[in-house]
Amino acid sequence: MSVPAGHPVAPLLRVEDVVVEYPRKGLPPMRALAGVGLEIAPGEVVGIVGESGCGKSTLARAITGLAPVRGGSVTFDGTPVGAMGRRRRDPGLLPLQMVFQDPNASLNPRRTIGAQIQEVVVARERAQGAGRGRRDPETAREAADALRRVGLPEGAADKYPHEFSGGQRQRAAIARALASHPRMIVADEPVSALDASAQAAVANLLRDLSREEGIALAFISHDLAVVGALADRVVVMYLGRIVETATVEEIWNAPRHPYTRALLAAVPVPDGSGSRPEALAGEVPDPGSPPPGCRFHPRCPLAVDRCRTDEPVLLRAPGAASESEVACWVAQAAEPASAGV
Ligand code: ADP
Ligand code: MG
Repeated sequence: MSVPAGHPVAPLLRVEDVVVEYPRKGLPPMRALAGVGLEIAPGEVVGIVGESGCGKSTLARAITGLAPVRGGSVTFDGTPVGAMGRRRRDPGLLPLQMVFQDPNASLNPRRTIGAQIQEVVVARERAQGAGRGRRDPETAREAADALRRVGLPEGAADKYPHEFSGGQRQRAAIARALASHPRMIVADEPVSALDASAQAAVANLLRDLSREEGIALAFISHDLAVVGALADRVVVMYLGRIVETATVEEIWNAPRHPYTRALLAAVPVPDGSGSRPEALAGEVPDPGSPPPGCRFHPRCPLAVDRCRTDEPVLLRAPGAASESEVACWVAQAAEPASAGV
């Protein structure tokens, strides 16, 4: 999203230096997020990308109050998001909704889609102190409207989740989220379980809803191609840390972190000749005991001595756009190289 100079938009979501640790029996805790900071403006579409295990889902859970946060803070529109969300959520957090990889995670198999959406509408009204009841025709009308907005056919309201295809079921889960009148949706791998045609359609639906209704969107995927096609800004994670954040143009045209370049090199080229040579060697280390210095150095083709001892922090790189930052000693010292190096 472009923000006019001199008129910064206050962030809707503010994540500051968040640390998340999962307890492990007989082992030190698994530090899945090791100090992550992120701001998302109203209506902004942010793609969050990184290999499996880098902490994307943990970040989604921290944002929505479902992770064991050990340090730092998360605020949504000024409301602190609790450390553990098992207890009743603050009604102020209703406009922060999550969409999961598996739509069944948010749908009840034994109730029709229409009934489930009406339930959310009624809960929202109640949280806002309004008294519209389940039998109010306006409630049913609103549920039908939510289903129409996600592109489900007339009659979808009377169907059960199992009667839909995977793509339709994810649309229904999105319609349920819309019934809360969200100002932000955190979508964790929302298309990863869908077949190829449904993937693009559901990703585009989320982006269009965000654009048309000004809903901020954090779209999480392990696939940079998916994220790059729809985001304004991309956040690249590695082993529980953010290693680069940049506009989508910069990610495609002037990626700075060697890890971002490796992810980019793995994106299949459109002419169908397969992906470019795989640039990323080695295994992802255990985030519970990350390498010293830069976490990426054992796999990095550019590592210098300093990378083995000192951990870099996110800083604006030379020549980068104002909102772009990279955590890499080499990139912070160098002019940007072109993609595909
Ligand atoms: P991603 O979504 O990027 O694949 P996750 O956030 O799911 O990554 O996981 C980050 C790290 O935390 C991984 O090493 C994973 O094994 C670990 N992890 C995730 N959930 C738990 C949990 N409940 N208990 C212990 N470790 C966990
Ligand atoms: Mg995940």
